[in-house]
Amino acid sequence: KALSGYYYVKPIENGKAVTTEGQSAIQCRARGVFRNRGISPLVGDHVVYSLSDHNEGTVNEIMPRHSELIRPPVANVQFAVLLFSLREPDLNLPLLDKFLVHIEHSGLDTLICLTKQDLLEGEEIAKDDPITYVQELYERIGYEVIVTSTRTGRGREQLRERLAGHICVFSGQSGVGKSSLLNALMPSLNLETNEISMKLGRGKHTTRHVELIELDNGAFVADTPGFSQLDFLEMEVGDLSACFREFEPYAAECKFRGCSHLHEPGCKVIEAKDKGEIARIRYDNYVHFYAEMKDKKRRY
Ligand code: GDP
Ligand code: ZN
Repeated sequence: KALSGYYYVKPIENGKAVTTEGQSAIQCRARGVFRNRGISPLVGDHVVYSLSDHNEGTVNEIMPRHSELIRPPVANVQFAVLLFSLREPDLNLPLLDKFLVHIEHSGLDTLICLTKQDLLEGEEIAKDDPITYVQELYERIGYEVIVTSTRTGRGREQLRERLAGHICVFSGQSGVGKSSLLNALMPSLNLETNEISMKLGRGKHTTRHVELIELDNGAFVADTPGFSQLDFLEMEVGDLSACFREFEPYAAECKFRGCSHLHEPGCKVIEAKDKGEIARIRYDNYVHFYAEMKDKKRRY
């Protein structure tokens, strides 16, 4: 965790985090030389540190990063777990696609986690089984989908296994059940959930600093409101199509370079959508986001 100029470093021996008695992390300052070079340690970094006699440390060296996320500022993240509830709030596919665009843009791998499965009662499931629909929609284009419920325990072990030994970020709107799921993965975490904060008559306490939560299977999870500003301001419209991963093979064959896939003749993406090879709902979301981005660029 990084907080008020301190870095809390987890000692690692032979590739495994070790917890020393009564002290889970070592409080460190960063060596001054980093500041001069305009770099600073990030949560998720592997560092070399030295200890002073009163058990405070100094970060002396930052090991090369595999990845560097800007929001939230975490290094070496391997994938994002995108959480969406099936109910309360209802599943919102345009918003899910919007999150996916941002995650794709940041270059991360994604695991989609559909939460609160227990809230889909038998009747609803029979009518238009939303779980199968969403699973097929996203698995077809190469996203892994895990369905969970903290009430029935569904998906818990599958998720645990998937997270083991990795650094990941949990991302999703407030209320989808991120804290509840982390608690289900490791009850000793005791994270505050909405229910509890409502009982206490206040809003949920949200941490503003960046912190990795360690699970007992070597997983480290950043639970921060990282992708909360989904405003497209950092993206160019030309980047959008690459964030729809199933467009790629078709986009490469479009007649015009820089094809927007909106109306150009000889557009292979439109053709694929018409043939049903690209899901219409995904294509429609692409068109919406495209218009939204154009609009934003005009106004700012
Ligand atoms: P967060 O804001 O994403 O961390 O969401 P919370 O973990 O605080 O959960 C929001 C609300 O959803 C709380 O009232 C939880 O009890 C409830 N909740 C979380 N997971 C589930 C679930 O799997 N099933 C049901 N029925 N409710 C859930
Ligand atoms: Zn095209």
